[in-house]
Amino acid sequence: MDYQEKPSVMVVDDEASNVFLLKNILTDYTVTCAFSAKEMFENIDAAAPKVIILDVMLPDQNGFDIAKKLSSDKRYSSIHIIFLTAKTESTDVVSGFKHGGYDYIKKPFDEIELLARVEAAMKRAFEREKLESEVFIDPLTELYNRRYLTDYIRSESSRALRSKENFAVAMLDIDHFKSINDNLGHPCGDHILREFARIIAGELREYDVAIRYGGEEFLVVFPGESKINAVSVLERIQDKVLSGSYIWEDTPVSFSFTAGIADFMEIDHTSMPFEDLINKADHRLYHGKHDGRNCIVINDD
Ligand SMILES: [Mg+2]
Repeated sequence: MDYQEKPSVMVVDDEASNVFLLKNILTDYTVTCAFSAKEMFENIDAAAPKVIILDVMLPDQNGFDIAKKLSSDKRYSSIHIIFLTAKTESTDVVSGFKHGGYDYIKKPFDEIELLARVEAAMKRAFEREKLESEVFIDPLTELYNRRYLTDYIRSESSRALRSKENFAVAMLDIDHFKSINDNLGHPCGDHILREFARIIAGELREYDVAIRYGGEEFLVVFPGESKINAVSVLERIQDKVLSGSYIWEDTPVSFSFTAGIADFMEIDHTSMPFEDLINKADHRLYHGKHDGRNCIVINDD
């Protein structure tokens, strides 16, 4: 397998001799060890394992219960779990798979077999990760797609309501996009969409989220930011868009965009903060289009 750095494996077992044996075998991986469930949960975020080798009999928690917890938590559900246990009853094997286990190895284990199983689990973890990321990416612009937005809203809504922390949502739409397509052709339109997406992505922070919302419409979420701060980001995007030169088959093309922005502090803190903000931002975008385009609208009047 071709990795830039060694992929991360976590070994969770209360028997120190077992942990050290595994650590010595798994030389192709970055190995993080934990001797209890508590220790595992304390270190899991820093270790970011793709595979966990999990002992079933731990002092503080049963391995199956841990697996259940991991598989029902969105942050950890893609981790592939290999149970490692001295228990050999076949019901235990079934139980392991039922609780989200990927594989099952009985102690005492054969080193070659264990390595092969870890490698197989790792390969699957990488494949699944790639597949999942492709499902949420718009192939033309390489920004997130609408499906990702649905997922993001589902996971972030309750957090936003609980934390009451401000965040802003912006809707951006390329002006007169239809005439670009009509006059210069759809491949040129695609070129402009890609250029616009590249400029947007270049101005965002790591935790801002840019989504291709529809044809030439883009949505950006700015976690922790007011709409005033979001405006300054959009103004930088606007400067870049207007000063950029876009050539399509020797023809210079120019474009602009209109945007509407809203933030969480402006709305009633309802159960659907994202939907309300998207509607509000969209409404302002609509007004901006009517007021002559190429502008950023942050108020209703
Ligand atoms: Mg044990």
